[in-house]
Amino acid sequence: PAMQSTGELEGGAYDAPHVLFIPSAGIGHLTPVFRVIAGLSSRGIDVSVVTVLPTVSAAETDYFNGLFADYPGVRRVDMHLLPLDASEFTSEDPFFLRWEALRRSVHLLRPIITNAEPRITAIITDITLTSCVIPIAKELDVPCHVLFPTAATMLSLNAYYPGYLEQLKGGPAPGVVGDVDIPGVFRVPRSALPPALVDVNKLFTKQFIDNGREIVRADGVLVNTFDAVEPAPLIALRGGKIVPGYPPVYTIGPLKSHATKAGGPGDALLDEWLGQQRTRSVVYVAFGNRSAARLDQILEIAAGLEACGYPFLWVLKTTKVDREDDAELAEVLGDGYLERVKGRGIVTKGWVEQEALLKHPAVGMFVSHGGWNSALEASSAGVPLLVWPQLGDHRVNAMAAVSAGIGAWAEHWSWDGEDTLVTGQDIADKVKEVMADEKLRASVAVARKEAAKAVAEGGTSYRNMHDFIAKLKGGA
Ligand code: UDP
Ligand code: UDP
Repeated sequence: PAMQSTGELEGGAYDAPHVLFIPSAGIGHLTPVFRVIAGLSSRGIDVSVVTVLPTVSAAETDYFNGLFADYPGVRRVDMHLLPLDASEFTSEDPFFLRWEALRRSVHLLRPIITNAEPRITAIITDITLTSCVIPIAKELDVPCHVLFPTAATMLSLNAYYPGYLEQLKGGPAPGVVGDVDIPGVFRVPRSALPPALVDVNKLFTKQFIDNGREIVRADGVLVNTFDAVEPAPLIALRGGKIVPGYPPVYTIGPLKSHATKAGGPGDALLDEWLGQQRTRSVVYVAFGNRSAARLDQILEIAAGLEACGYPFLWVLKTTKVDREDDAELAEVLGDGYLERVKGRGIVTKGWVEQEALLKHPAVGMFVSHGGWNSALEASSAGVPLLVWPQLGDHRVNAMAAVSAGIGAWAEHWSWDGEDTLVTGQDIADKVKEVMADEKLRASVAVARKEAAKAVAEGGTSYRNMHDFIAKLKGGA
């Protein structure tokens, strides 16, 4: 250890580790990246973070500022994004567009890497930028790892998909995507794929394929999951069953919150209200940071929660990007709703400290879109999920959650632009069903124990993090 701190090893000089993180956009993508940054920084590793300006959402600006305030040792490296002519794309999601803008600005990283003091010894990039970052890292001879922000099941789809499309080319219907049977994992029905993927000309699909191919040249892949919750895709990836020679997969989850401020849900009124509720009685409803429900669907959710008979806490978003969200709750929910549910139901448009909230003993279930950060936070807290997928990877995550025994999936409920409404009655019935599902509650309790075991000393995620850090330090 003494030798390491002087930067000298037998056989010559070496550089102390200095890791450059390249996050992308969307809180769901930033969350695992920030958690790993916090983990490395608090273990004394020198970290720089590329901070792309401007951010997409106000929540992201706050999120970056919070990280740098909490971890003053972490270096912030600003990068000003080149403007993207959005007219080139028709009706694309603001986050996909941002990823594309980032991908087109990625050459700006070269001087950031070469000018950094001390020398950058490793890069960790978000999955969305993989195919652009790895060539630069290779050219500059810097090891490059990818951080995959969602489920290992999704990672297995990402690994398999480029080859799947190649196979289609030789078949009877080239380019017509069907069900995708991931070797060693499960068959993902076409209807559960991230919707963009069925169209090979979509921007997201092109990025997804390029990244899926290039990731094979990475030095390793970090995933926020743990072995016991998704054994099948991990065995398949590590055994080379999906892609021969796939890089090492480091499962390091559930990642701990990076917030240094201890405590509960964070809002005094909310704390007080939760404190008054019975154990495991509260239905928590939230769909992540980028899923906005339509107004008519919002009214059905409202009716369903009112009818379900349980106290509820509902985080409501009416737009994908929070800066555009100026709707008044009372107006959205209609006359009298908030008064009617007063005391029993809380509806908020604000940020809640979800990870802490889920650990509150009053929380009994979580109606979630199936974002993987949310799914892991729920399983670590032993809270059963009712997954109502909204877009993107959510249905694949729902399948992973069901096979892990951490949640139920409202399989026939509409998603991503479908215009069928899920009625308030259906919602109330399903909530009651999940609340009464003792079998599910028991398997979630097992998952909670497994999650704790994975990150405890000697557990799978603990050891992977340890090995990864040893690798960063040049010891493996
Ligand atoms: N989150 C939070 N408070 C909020 C909204 C979101 O703490 O008001 C956190 C949540 O705990 C999770 C992340 O933001 O860690 C959302 O990630 P997820 O993968 O679940 O969904 P996404 O936002 O990517 O759709
Ligand atoms: N993803 C991927 N390769 C890419 C881009 C994204 O594997 O090139 C993954 C990423 O982990 C993401 C998922 O695909 O979470 C679905 O992306 P989407 O934007 O639809 O959902 P979100 O990021 O909000 O979860």
